[in-house]
Amino acid sequence: QLTAKDVQTWFATFTDKIRENKEYLSDLDTPIGDGDHGNNMARGVNAYEESFEQKQPDTISDIFQVFSMAMISKVGGASGPLYGSALMNMVKETKGIETIDSYEQLGNIVEQGLAGIKKRGKTEFEDKTMVDVWEPVAQTLKEGSLNKEQIAQAKEHTKDLIAKKGRASYLGERSKGHIDPGAASSTLLFDALVETME
Ligand code: ADP
Ligand code: MG
Ligand code: MG
Repeated sequence: QLTAKDVQTWFATFTDKIRENKEYLSDLDTPIGDGDHGNNMARGVNAYEESFEQKQPDTISDIFQVFSMAMISKVGGASGPLYGSALMNMVKETKGIETIDSYEQLGNIVEQGLAGIKKRGKTEFEDKTMVDVWEPVAQTLKEGSLNKEQIAQAKEHTKDLIAKKGRASYLGERSKGHIDPGAASSTLLFDALVETME
């Protein structure tokens, strides 16, 4: 079971992970993008933290809302509106609920988030984007589990794909051999979730 407090812990853990991995994320974005993904995400989580302090949201839906607005308004870069759309769909999916009570329910919430990214980004599975982590995570949750190995595998799988969306797609074949930065930041998000549920 996840309470609003647990969702708060989830995002606080994610915030820490983004800060710790800021350089790593920007380094992944250097060969196949513009080298700013770590900085973009750090701006997002900083804005989230600040806004959280001000607004003190106390429902799951409102916490998603604060996170969504922070990502949309402060990130700049493709990843902001994409995370923002995911979270906005998760706001809708959790309206009025006090706790998340099962893996299946959590899977449905993540699946709605995934749908937001796909719609906003016009993205499919294996386009070498964050979708390649969100989609298997949603699926695995719906089947009743989630662990870090599964998430790491999904991230690794982006390495040999050819990018079809975003800046990396300009490289075509040459995007092969590099992990997608958005898949890596999404891995941190779901690793933080696993740690919260432990
Ligand atoms: P920018 O490319 O504008 O500098 P970031 O570096 O912050 O933005 O984010 C890049 C990440 O955004 C990529 O690694 C990829 O995961 C994700 N991304 C980019 N375009 C799309 C898209 N159309 N659909 C899904 N994800 C995308
Ligand atoms: Mg970038
Ligand atoms: Mg950029």
